[in-house]
Amino acid sequence: MRLLVVEDDPDLNKQLVNALTEAGYVVDTAADGEEGHFLGETEPYDAVVLDLGLPTMDGVTILEKWRRAGRNMPVLILTARDRWSDKVAGFDAGADDYVAKPFFMEEVLARLRALLRRSTGHATSEIECGPLRVDTRTSRVTVNGTAVKLTSLEYRLVEYLIHHQGRIISRTELVEHLYDQDFDRDSNTIEVFVGRLRRKLGKDMIETVRGLGYRLAAPEDAA
Ligand code: CA
Repeated sequence: MRLLVVEDDPDLNKQLVNALTEAGYVVDTAADGEEGHFLGETEPYDAVVLDLGLPTMDGVTILEKWRRAGRNMPVLILTARDRWSDKVAGFDAGADDYVAKPFFMEEVLARLRALLRRSTGHATSEIECGPLRVDTRTSRVTVNGTAVKLTSLEYRLVEYLIHHQGRIISRTELVEHLYDQDFDRDSNTIEVFVGRLRRKLGKDMIETVRGLGYRLAAPEDAA
């Protein structure tokens, strides 16, 4: 899952990026409003953490512009404490949730997990697909109850696939959601990772749909 953090306070920006990276997300970051707006309008993010008070363009304006442009990714806004009017303006502009500063990082992580799973149609933090089970809270992956050890990139891949299970996902989409903007992207490496995942999860979990991409499905559901 690839996230965008738009926050002008350098310490807070860094804390957010560190915590989100540690939690297994790929994170792009912007410290001013115009840059944040540009990234959110041009790059495909799974969710955004957006501060409201920003230089060059404020958060509410950014959000309104994204929504007008049809960008519908979940957005968690960071608001000043006790500014109820900020929360209302944020929700009216298209925010999905908010956290008031100062906040506990665990709360931001939990709210993001909830936004990510709701936006892909899942109600709980443990997502299942046939014998495969991914606990998005602990990053634990099991097949038929047996724990599977994955590298961070393999985990990102399986997390993305299981959130979007049943849908055909192109290599380009995977590259866009598994790597940050500065990464030297090569869609051939996706094939290598899918191959490794098949060896770890069982070869029938990830179907190759020729010319289109991959699909994660419970083996009995696979067409
Ligand atoms: Ca700020």
